[in-house]
Amino acid sequence: MLSYNCNNKKIKNLLYKGECIMALIKCRECGKQISDKAKTCPHCGVKNSSGMSTKKKNIIITCSLIVIVVVVAMILIFKKGPLDVYKSTMIDALEEYRVGKIDRKELRNKMDSISSKLNDYDRNEKDSFKALSISVEAGYISMKLLSDDASNKQINEWIAEIKDIN
Ligand SMILES: [Zn+2]
Repeated sequence: MLSYNCNNKKIKNLLYKGECIMALIKCRECGKQISDKAKTCPHCGVKNSSGMSTKKKNIIITCSLIVIVVVVAMILIFKKGPLDVYKSTMIDALEEYRVGKIDRKELRNKMDSISSKLNDYDRNEKDSFKALSISVEAGYISMKLLSDDASNKQINEWIAEIKDIN
């Protein structure tokens, strides 16, 4: 019987549809030639691992694609923009101040530095309004801390305001 290797593109192109029979492969157990579509070797009965069904292959491909799509989506969702980094830096600084890790002066320095950095933010950038809002908030907090320490309630309010900036 003549068998054509359907995996060979050159041969496949020469054949009319339907004429392509099957590829012969060697049984990994007995070494005799068997069809790549055979589920088991007709000579020794061992399972033909290379004869994975198209259905199985499709399931594996589909699952892989789903995993890739989910991973990409997660990366996009959790990837923080540069402006969100400023927001979390401000929140972290406020929390450090709350527990006494940094004092009022240090907190003000951090807020001033963020405020001035974002004040120079490229106005043509699409989120320049967000940058301005963060800059204003940081400047406002710094100004409020000029004379007095902030209460816990006040810190919570600031954190909520920072989180609200989008
Ligand atoms: Zn065999």
